[in-house]
Amino acid sequence: MPKKITILGSTGSIGENTLDLVSYAGPDIFDVVCLTANSNAQKLADQALKFRPEFVVLADPKNADVLKNALNGSGIKIGIGTDDLKEAGAWPADFIMAAIIGAAGLEPTLAAVSQGKYVGLANKECLVCAGALFIDAVKRSGTVLLPVDSEHNAIFQVLNQERYSEVNKLILTASGGPFRTLSMDEMQNITRAQALSHPVWEMGAKITIDSATLMNKGLELIEASYLFNRPPEDIDIVIHPQSIIHSMVSYIDGTVLAQMGEPDMRTPIAYAMAWPERMATPVKSLDLASVGKLEFHEPNLELFPALTLARDTLTLGGAAPTVLNAANEIAVAGFLAEKLSFLGISRCVDKVLNSFISEQSFTKPLEMLSEVNDYDARARARALETIKLID
Ligand code: NAD
Ligand code: MG
Repeated sequence: MPKKITILGSTGSIGENTLDLVSYAGPDIFDVVCLTANSNAQKLADQALKFRPEFVVLADPKNADVLKNALNGSGIKIGIGTDDLKEAGAWPADFIMAAIIGAAGLEPTLAAVSQGKYVGLANKECLVCAGALFIDAVKRSGTVLLPVDSEHNAIFQVLNQERYSEVNKLILTASGGPFRTLSMDEMQNITRAQALSHPVWEMGAKITIDSATLMNKGLELIEASYLFNRPPEDIDIVIHPQSIIHSMVSYIDGTVLAQMGEPDMRTPIAYAMAWPERMATPVKSLDLASVGKLEFHEPNLELFPALTLARDTLTLGGAAPTVLNAANEIAVAGFLAEKLSFLGISRCVDKVLNSFISEQSFTKPLEMLSEVNDYDARARARALETIKLID
């Protein structure tokens, strides 16, 4: 029997790569049962007509008619809006790829987790904004959570979970993004186009900007802490521009195990899709002689304050990572809309975080989804105000 697969966020970069692997493996291996998108109704309809899922959902109702017209007579059930998006998460499947971008993915991913099956987690923001609560839901449901983010996938592959006390550190690698060699002066006038061109990875717009500010690595630090249950001081970050080593685990005897491969998301996606087996992919095999050299250096925390902001929020706990994530989402959208400078992104996040520090409940553990949503909404509102005041 083919594995029934749902893709939440099928029109994005991770979503398309996942469908590419579904096609590559063939219909005997995977049967697509549900696909979702935010607003790109035409792309969702094209995917639906090709992969014939049972259910498709468009989160934003604006283009609902485009989807309905395109799928008229196809027999495919159509859902519109955020409630239906949750229904997509809960739609019976053997494997769900959680690839929506941002905190918008939290509730559909929680619905996917409630099935107690296999969830591939690309949507790091949902773990950042609801960390402990999300992990509790995973444990309660018995879901097997398979990290798709390349660094976390790498760690998952080389981590000996049974002998966890023998682990010394987790080492996340970072490409460093397009601006790792600039000076502070040169960083003043970074344009949208410059920030959108990543030297190594091809990804959606938001994560590409996060990679340029290194907020992506900050979010990944928080993601790693929750996924692998380690405090911030046990997680190091090293810049590795070639992105061949995707991350490492250091053991107490001095051994360091690394996972390597071409920088192509189809490898970690395939690992999650086929787990506990491995499947063939069209990814080209790694030729180390042609790569030549692998470099490593420390991140520059002065040029990339997002890393420190993320580490500090993880130490603070409570709602701090939720606020960091929400403020960052608004700041990145502001930069993409040319309402905020590149350096303004981290400045905005910093200011929003500071505005919450005096609130007593800010660092208390979040126990309810409503508390997460409340902090998320308030942080977004404050970030929108802050953008108007800076730059
Ligand atoms: P993307 O922007 O290319 O695609 C996002 C998908 O989510 C699209 O299908 C879009 O329609 C949907 N979406 C966006 N906003 C939504 C909303 N409000 N409600 C419902 N659906 C919505 O993003 P991506 O680059 O594919 O990234 C997806 C996730 O995977 C992110 O969390 C990202 O951090 C993570 N990730 C991506 C990569 C990569 O190579 N692209 C690598 C590692 C991790
Ligand atoms: Mg990553």
